[in-house]
Amino acid sequence: MTQLRIPFNKPTFLGTELDFVRESIANSHISGDGVFTEKCSRFLEARLGVSKALLTTSCTHALEMAALLLDIQPGDEVIVPSFTFVTSINAFVLRGAKPVFADIHPDTLNLDEGQLADLITERTKAIVLVHYAGVACEMEAIMAIARKHGIAVVEDAAHALFSRYKGRCLGTYGEFATLSFHETKNFTCGEGGALLVNDEAHIERAEIIREKGTNRSRFFRGQVDKYTWVDLGSSYLPSDMLAAYLWAQFEKASLIQARRREVWQCYFERLEAWAAKHDVGLPTVPADVEQSYHMFYLLLPSLSVRTALIKRLKQRGILSVFHYLPLHLSAMGQRFGGKAGDCPVTEDLSDRLLRLPFYYHLTQSEQDEVISALCDFEEWD
Ligand SMILES: *Cc1c(COP(=O)(O)O)cnc(C)c1O
Repeated sequence: MTQLRIPFNKPTFLGTELDFVRESIANSHISGDGVFTEKCSRFLEARLGVSKALLTTSCTHALEMAALLLDIQPGDEVIVPSFTFVTSINAFVLRGAKPVFADIHPDTLNLDEGQLADLITERTKAIVLVHYAGVACEMEAIMAIARKHGIAVVEDAAHALFSRYKGRCLGTYGEFATLSFHETKNFTCGEGGALLVNDEAHIERAEIIREKGTNRSRFFRGQVDKYTWVDLGSSYLPSDMLAAYLWAQFEKASLIQARRREVWQCYFERLEAWAAKHDVGLPTVPADVEQSYHMFYLLLPSLSVRTALIKRLKQRGILSVFHYLPLHLSAMGQRFGGKAGDCPVTEDLSDRLLRLPFYYHLTQSEQDEVISALCDFEEWD
């Protein structure tokens, strides 16, 4: 990405990461499942209330594990919002699944659960949903439909660590949920993720899949006297050095979240009147949702206004970026039958959404500059 004076993202870095990485090296255990992996996993389990949290090399890999755990087979159908990151569905397509694209709500930009009844067939095996910008999907309605049809729900919670819906943490609703610790996310170790397992019956197999298809985790706990190849699997464990880096940020989770909340509130409060005047949409956070303060976006009146605004901000040294292109219109989406008009809300909003610089290290004066640049913009038609 172009390096402007005010970038779109700066990875969170507190400084203490280096102390823990040093400690991990001094422990002489830098492969997976060392003491820092253990600390991070127990932290996630305690804070979220999930049965098992397994650190992975990425959110993408956690999604691949979910697809393996659900025994996705060629011909199975998996419902996914068209407005998401490619790996939400690619992980399932890798197992042979056919993606079925759903449209989104125009306010929260989350999966429109009203469409599920029409999209579910006898072959539907899973619904993969995304809590966009850390704002919860309508989990009660979605879980009720999924239960009625015997379909698994996977929450791609890459944006949504510590978000809640009706008081309960996101990531605890579906059979599985996945987190990302990529450098663009609230908490990072460069590349990393986690698989959250809510049904205890899946824990043992999840450990096996993560350990190259072996029962090595049971061996280390002394539950078997040798380990061997027992199932499909791959190498999904991150180095304990990365877990050490991540632990430094988990340890200061409330500090990081409090600052992100201030940044979000400042944008919202100072842009509210401006947005109303220019017919710009701001993020919608329903009353029963506590969000994770992952991003701040604008819904501009048109694509041409967005293009002009990106250019003006860039001239002032500020990088603003759009987000997901509709998956059903991508080259791969079209191979699965996607065509223009299938998901009209996604097609419209994807052209008009703009994300503003949003990161832990954003200073007040930088944020003031972004807000002034928006207020000075005049090309509304
Ligand atoms: C970032 C992101 C991913 C991918 O995360 P990685 O850790 O980079 O694999 C998946 N889904 C969503 C919604 C994301 O935002």
